[in-house]
Amino acid sequence: AAKTVLVVGGAGYIGAHICKALAARGDRPVVFDNLSSGHRHAVKWGPLVEGDVRSRADLDSAFSQYAPDAVMHFAAFIEVGIGEQRPLDFWDNNVGGVITLLQAMKCAGNDKLVFSSTCATYGEPERLPLTEAEPQTPVSVYGRTKLAVEQMLRDVSRGEGLRYAALRYFNAAGASPDGEIGEEHDPETHLIPNALRAAAGLGGRMKLFGEDYDTPDGTCIRDYVHVMDLADAHLAALDRLFEVEGGLACNLGTGNGFSVREILDAVETVTGQRVPHDVHPRRPGDAERLLADTTLAREVLGFAPQRSDPQTIIADAWRFHAPRWGV
Ligand code: UDP
Repeated sequence: AAKTVLVVGGAGYIGAHICKALAARGDRPVVFDNLSSGHRHAVKWGPLVEGDVRSRADLDSAFSQYAPDAVMHFAAFIEVGIGEQRPLDFWDNNVGGVITLLQAMKCAGNDKLVFSSTCATYGEPERLPLTEAEPQTPVSVYGRTKLAVEQMLRDVSRGEGLRYAALRYFNAAGASPDGEIGEEHDPETHLIPNALRAAAGLGGRMKLFGEDYDTPDGTCIRDYVHVMDLADAHLAALDRLFEVEGGLACNLGTGNGFSVREILDAVETVTGQRVPHDVHPRRPGDAERLLADTTLAREVLGFAPQRSDPQTIIADAWRFHAPRWGV
């Protein structure tokens, strides 16, 4: 049966792609977003409730108007550097916002939550690839707020019967293949959009942060996963909430690692343009290598990435950006 899903933060990058995927299979996304970093033009598959996740009144009126069957949360602050400068804002929004959301859900009789978590909860890994059982020792305020929510969800699930899935994304990238929506952060800190911008001749030379890591080409290795593959995993996690009690914490990555230099090469291949760049010192807080063990995602969510090779990710991102940048 079609489900109504309250997508908190649904006007942002990942949330909007999940809304599109929900609508494509006949579910009804209701976006709840304060548009602090989301975009009104990315809300296309259902109503927009303008509200703040820290406001119980805003949430209560959304629950009473739409009576959602389940909730998804994408409304966190994500910029690692800003988290170090403004930790209270991060704890207030990323953790306080989820407390308020859980209280509103409880009051509305809603017990199903899909939560965006992150591989940043692992910190600097001891063993690779990272399984869900690795110790979680985040090295940033951002990572600690996400871990705190995971711990809270576990408690609330045990004590109050919440059903949840905490999905630990590795490096989300790419865009809807039809170019309809894509990644629009401001400021943009992520590698692929920054490399594409430099390839387009905009925004000056890209900064490559660190070429002295203990990796084959000296640059950091990441596990990039296409946002539409993430969307498929969210639909599977949502369905699972209607079948299984308790909580799930699950990595979402491919298990394949690519260096910064390999990504720049792929950007040059896809765009046919050079990526002008300069090597800068390491960016504080960057782990040398991050790679997901994907066993659990495969087993529990049937996760089978279709578009997560770098060429496809970059081609889809380029199809979104190029016309908007006039190239
Ligand atoms: N990176 C870079 N220049 C940029 C943005 C990122 O060299 O303009 C590097 C960054 O240091 C890291 C990798 O690219 O090694 C991926 O960074 P991103 O911010 O995309 O994702 P993160 O892994 O930090 O979540």
